[in-house]
Parts: sequence; C-alpha cells; structure tokens
Amino acid sequence: MIRSFPALLCVLLFCGCQTTIERHGKTARHKELYVVIDDAGLALAEVRQFLDIPVPMTIAVLPHQKETKKVCSLIRNDGAKEVILHQPMEAYDRQKNPGFGAIHSTTRPDEVARILRQNLDSVQGAVGMNNHMGSRITENPKLMREVLQYCKDNDLFFLDSKTAYNSQVPLVALKQHMHVEERHLFLDVRHDREWVRRMWGRAVAHARINGYAVVIGHAWCKETAAAIRDSYQTLENQGYTFHKLSELYE
Ligand SMILES: [Zn+2]
Repeated sequence: MIRSFPALLCVLLFCGCQTTIERHGKTARHKELYVVIDDAGLALAEVRQFLDIPVPMTIAVLPHQKETKKVCSLIRNDGAKEVILHQPMEAYDRQKNPGFGAIHSTTRPDEVARILRQNLDSVQGAVGMNNHMGSRITENPKLMREVLQYCKDNDLFFLDSKTAYNSQVPLVALKQHMHVEERHLFLDVRHDREWVRRMWGRAVAHARINGYAVVIGHAWCKETAAAIRDSYQTLENQGYTFHKLSELYE
C-alpha cells in the first residue's frame, strides 16, 4: 500500500451539479461510502448483523475481549469485510475506561510499540487501526508519533476517529510523511432510529458533495445496522458505492 502524503492534495472539479474529487491523476472519487463499525469483539451477534449486509465495510475490533478472536476469524472469512485494530486510548473523561491494551497518558513512548504488537496479536489479520476513545492521547504528539511510526513500519494505515477537538494526528502525520484519513461523521452518538437515519442521510450527502465519506457506527447499535441494511440497495442503484477503508490509502 502506498501512503504518500501528496495523495491528500485534492482538486475539486465541478461538472454540472455533481462534485468529484481528482487526486493527482488517480481515479476520481464519486459517491464513495467508507463505513467503519467500531467496538466489535464483545459479542458475536453484534458483528453478525453487519456481516449479513452484503457490502464492503471495515470492522474495528477491540483487543483481548471475550469474542475478539472469533470475531476476527468471522470477519476474515467474509471477503467483503476487513479487520482493523480498535486501539484503546485514554479519554479526557477519566470515568471512561478504555479497556484492555490501552495507551494512557502515563504510557512511556518506548512502551507504545510493545502494546500495539500485543494488541495486534489479539486482533489477527488487522490491516490498519483507529482509536477507541483517545481524546487525551490523540492530542499528545509524543505518543501519536510512536503510534504512527509503528503503523508506517508495519504497513498499517491509521484512521483518526476524531474524538478530540485538537487532535495532533494530522500534524504528526505530515511531519512523518504519512497519509492519514479522519472520520467525517458518527452515526450513532444517539441510538434512536430517527437520529441514526438522519446521520446516515448526512453521511450520504457528504459523499455526494465531497466524493467520499468516512462514517463510524458501532457494533452494539442495532439501528445503525438497520439503517444501512434498509438503504444499501437503493443507494447502489443511485450510483453510490461501498468500500473497505484500506482502499482510501492505496
Ligand atoms: Zn470505540
């Protein structure tokens, strides 16, 4: 996979009422949906409801949880889906426990690689990672430098879930000549049907206007699965396409 930074530089081309993204001679992006399902690994049934939807998606799995290994194996056996590590990181709100395998603000930079290696041993087949919680860590350039360097050295992509207002990830990535992407929308900050469907509508609009949308939902949210399941065929008929996140980094 190539992650050269110039791929980030985009030119907007307006043709009629459609907006398309041209990326340095690469194929233009047009109505592309990149759905990432976070917090997998706690229950098989949660993940199955997304595996049953026959479109490409990326599933972010928590390390060292009860069903981590089985969930990874199910996803790997589904050609339309891919696994990434959902890397636990400390949040500003110390009441929130990021769980096993977390990077904390007290973690020494030279411990980060060991933590990531152990987590990737648990989340087998991961092709990249994103942060679980992590507002306190993604604002910490010293720790994020270690995380991104590990990704670069091990041919893994990094998605900034953007849980921090002042995330340092874009700046650190720029200094390390790495291509990173960030989440555009969360689907299920609230879990009710009306909210999730409204956010899914916004995600689709984002893809129409900007060429693509990176959208995060959660494995534990039935309404997220329902919103995607009920609309994917109509969206495909309208020219939208679903993709694994790794395709954004090619
Ligand atoms: Zn999470």
